[in-house]
Amino acid sequence: MAVQQNRKTRSKRNMRRAHDALVAANPNECPSCGELKRPHHVCPSCGHYDNREVVARAQEVDLDEDAA
Ligand SMILES: [Zn+2]
Repeated sequence: MAVQQNRKTRSKRNMRRAHDALVAANPNECPSCGELKRPHHVCPSCGHYDNREVVARAQEVDLDEDAA
């Protein structure tokens, strides 16, 4: 295994880390439900993409009605 011969200075370490910052996401508003969603992705709250439903949402299950 390669082992470094000299310790990097604080300055060189910080210069290397200058490009490590995370960039914020760039959410768009869903045209059908208005939730924020990632661009070029199916809306996670309504399942729409390009103004049509591409992922069916699970039906609401009423547990009290099933038990009766
Ligand atoms: Zn939506």
